[in-house]
Amino acid sequence: MKLSELLKNDKPSLSFEVFPPKTDTAFESVKRATEEIAKLRPSFMSVTYGAGGGTSRYTLEIAKNIKERYAVPTLAHLTCVSSTRETVKAKIEQIKTAGIENVMALRGDLTPELMASDRGSWDYRYAVDLIRDIKESGAELCIGGACYPEIHPESANQKDDIKYLKEKVDAGCSFLTTQMFFDNNLLYNFLYKIREAGITVPVIPGVMPITNANQVERAIKLSGSFMPQRFKSLVDKFGTSPDAMKQAGIAYATDQIIDLYANGITNVHVYSMNKPDVAEKIQSNLLDIIGK
Ligand code: FAD
Repeated sequence: MKLSELLKNDKPSLSFEVFPPKTDTAFESVKRATEEIAKLRPSFMSVTYGAGGGTSRYTLEIAKNIKERYAVPTLAHLTCVSSTRETVKAKIEQIKTAGIENVMALRGDLTPELMASDRGSWDYRYAVDLIRDIKESGAELCIGGACYPEIHPESANQKDDIKYLKEKVDAGCSFLTTQMFFDNNLLYNFLYKIREAGITVPVIPGVMPITNANQVERAIKLSGSFMPQRFKSLVDKFGTSPDAMKQAGIAYATDQIIDLYANGITNVHVYSMNKPDVAEKIQSNLLDIIGK
């Protein structure tokens, strides 16, 4: 099912993100974890794509398995920055052959090697170039793009970030998924600004349950997200006790999701980090709200 159709549903719903294994030996255990998450019957599942090869080779295999065995709609991520036009063309064909109808079109992060290389020789500089190529391929995929309530780390200001976001939507994005954030007011403010800028496609907020203290540092480094004091206190208090931190992190994410639903958001995407127990707990906390 195309996410553009699915997102017309006005009932609160949950979707989950998983990532493919980093090594061949981890494949079976990751596959099992993604299947456990699929059994929760989320509205859809996204499968990430490693920017420089590595984990990217299993993205489609995992997405296809979830779709075929559990009838859960899937969204395959695809990055372009280190790719050639030929490899992207081949990937689009593979996505179609796998029966996947949704693709998240991303630039990918700039590694130090890429930063040091000659940008003039790149086939793709921005996600918008990939979106245009997918459209031009005639593949009839439903395309999503990434957006950043706290602006993309490379952007000089939010005005430019939103200007380029609008270019992505005009090029053919049917929906946007946000970077993680820990303060919902940042999202509401962002939504107000992008709607004013004429971006009308559905925006799926991405919520990351922080379930161990080490994750906090990694999450901030990756996303540059602002940590509200309420969240910092929770990590300070429970960070050294794994079980307590997990419970507190799940409660914080649940609270964030309930507030999003209460403010008119219908689908929330949970960065479940291949943890079926975390996904299950969040879903069961919301059972009477999402009605499963
Ligand atoms: P772009 O939309 O190309 O934006 C990148 C930067 O360039 C921004 O600062 C933007 O303002 C600027 N820009 C855009 N267009 C122009 C232009 N025409 N002129 C000048 N500046 C411009 N990474 C992975 O490797 N694999 C994944 O699976 C993955 N999944 C993700 C899912 C989500 C929901 C999010 C939010 C991020 C994900 N990422 C993933 C990370 C992503 O690849 C990085 O954040 C990357 O740095 C930017 O990707 P983008 O598609 O947003 O890029």
